Amino acid sequence: MTTGKLILFCGPSGSGKTTIVHHLLKNNPALSFSVSATTRSKRDVETDGVDYHFLSVEEFKKKISHDEFIEWEEVYKNGFYGTLKPEVEKIWKQGKVAVFDVDVEGGLKIKKKFGDAMLAVFVMPPTVDDLHKRLHARETETPESLKARIAKSEHELTFAFRFDKVLINDDREKAFEEAQQMVNEFLK
Ligand code: 5GP
Repeated sequence: MTTGKLILFCGPSGSGKTTIVHHLLKNNPALSFSVSATTRSKRDVETDGVDYHFLSVEEFKKKISHDEFIEWEEVYKNGFYGTLKPEVEKIWKQGKVAVFDVDVEGGLKIKKKFGDAMLAVFVMPPTVDDLHKRLHARETETPESLKARIAKSEHELTFAFRFDKVLINDDREKAFEEAQQMVNEFLK
C-alpha cells in the first residue's frame, strides 16, 4: 500500500483547530477528514461515522488488541481516542489527502510515523487567557471535565516547537487564510 499525503492540525482543546479543519475541508475537495474512533459519548450536534466512530470501551479495546490503530490514546479515564488504519487507507485509495484533528501526543506519534509525507500544524490560541475563555464558553463540559481540559491544554502548549508550522489563531478569517496558504504550499 503506497502512502499518500497527510495534514495534521493539532493544538489544545479551545485553540480553534476544529473550526479551521472544517473550513479547509469545505473549500478543498482534495482533502478528506480522517474520522477518529472514540469512546466518549456523542454530543447532540455530532453524527456517528462523520465526526467520530463512536465505540464502547470494549469495542475499542478489541480493536487495540487486533492492531487496528495507527495510534490511540486514553485521553481521559476511559476516554479512548484513536486513528484507525482502514480509515486512512480508504482516503488514500480515493486519491485524497487525509486530514487529522487529533491531540498533541497522538499527532506527534503520527508525524513520527509519516515524516515528510505529513504537514503538521500546531494551532495556538493568542493567549492562555483566551484559551480559558473559549473552554469556559463550551456548554458541553462538566466542571470536572473542564478542569481536566484546561490542565491538558496548558501542558500541550509547550509542544508547539515540535511541529512544522505554528498558526496563531487570533483572528478567525486571518487564520483561515494562513491555514489555506500552508496547505497550498504543502500540496504544490
Ligand atoms: P473532543 O472530545 O473535544 O472531540 O476531543 C478531545 C481531544 O481528543 C481533542 O484534542 C481531539 O483532537 C483529540 N482526538 C480526536 N481524535 C483523536 C485521535 O484519533 N487520536 C488522538 N490521540 N486524539 C484524538
